Amino acid sequence: CGIFAYLNYCVPRTRKEIFETLVKGLQRLEYRGYDSAGIAVDGPNKTTTDSIKNAICLIKKKGKVKNLDEELYKKDSLDLDEQLCTHFGLAHTRWATHGEPSAVNSHPHRSDKDNEFVVIHNGIITNYKELKEYLIIKGYEFESETDTEVIPKLIKYVYDNQEGDSVAFGKLVERVIQQLEGAFALVFKSRHFPGEAVATRRGSPLLIGVRSEQELLTENIPIQYNSVHEKNSRNRSDSVNSINSVGDGSAVEYYFASDASAIIEHTKKVLYMEDDDIAVVTGGKLSIHRINRKHGEDPVRAIQTLQ
Ligand code: GLU
Repeated sequence: CGIFAYLNYCVPRTRKEIFETLVKGLQRLEYRGYDSAGIAVDGPNKTTTDSIKNAICLIKKKGKVKNLDEELYKKDSLDLDEQLCTHFGLAHTRWATHGEPSAVNSHPHRSDKDNEFVVIHNGIITNYKELKEYLIIKGYEFESETDTEVIPKLIKYVYDNQEGDSVAFGKLVERVIQQLEGAFALVFKSRHFPGEAVATRRGSPLLIGVRSEQELLTENIPIQYNSVHEKNSRNRSDSVNSINSVGDGSAVEYYFASDASAIIEHTKKVLYMEDDDIAVVTGGKLSIHRINRKHGEDPVRAIQTLQ
């Protein structure tokens, strides 16, 4: 199975271009094997008629990536020409381990019917039964048979039960993975944190490709700063335990993938994540932290150049 996610910051892309990038990413990962595929993008939610702020749309399909690709263009509610200047899209090909191959069992999985948090997962959560029992007692309703679905439910539980100041997206994910056993590469998207990305891994592979403003400019790709995304307007949200950071709030594109083969056509600059790393993109800046970091460790991530 494979993970692919794409974030464009201050780089105008149409929804159609975003679909094409996501599908192409999945096609590069097809050789890893899969039985279904799905994506999450910004757009009207197909399960509710009322329009909610920063709605996330999920499209999932059993079978080949080609089936999913056809499905993307059938949604009348999604304007293909709409420019999404800053956007984060998720894509996944599933190799079922828990629950048969079907649209509902395929990824992304969601926290609730309003898609507040959505996640793609590669791996197996071995303690999912205990977590699921706990969440059911807390009133969460599960729709799939997967081990993965406990993850979006758990992050919503943490989000809804936080006290005091609202917790940053990366911190929520940190609290979630402290409860997880097994192997995982995970990428999260949330309508509470539009334009932000969080990724993490333990035992399953995940790397990040970075296409900088300089690279974009040499290819004459337009860059569009507006009042919401003023250049350099945001500070890195969480510098404690920071072990690496990329970007200064300039226009940038990030690619998250299980394998370099899905990234190399976009950029050769990559960063390999290590176990228990949490990567956060906020305001166009990427920072990576490792949870439970031991004193004296020096785990600085270097950006590598693919050959
Ligand atoms: N264990 C998860 C599932 O069955 C993820 C499988 C995968 O890595 O594709 O849905």
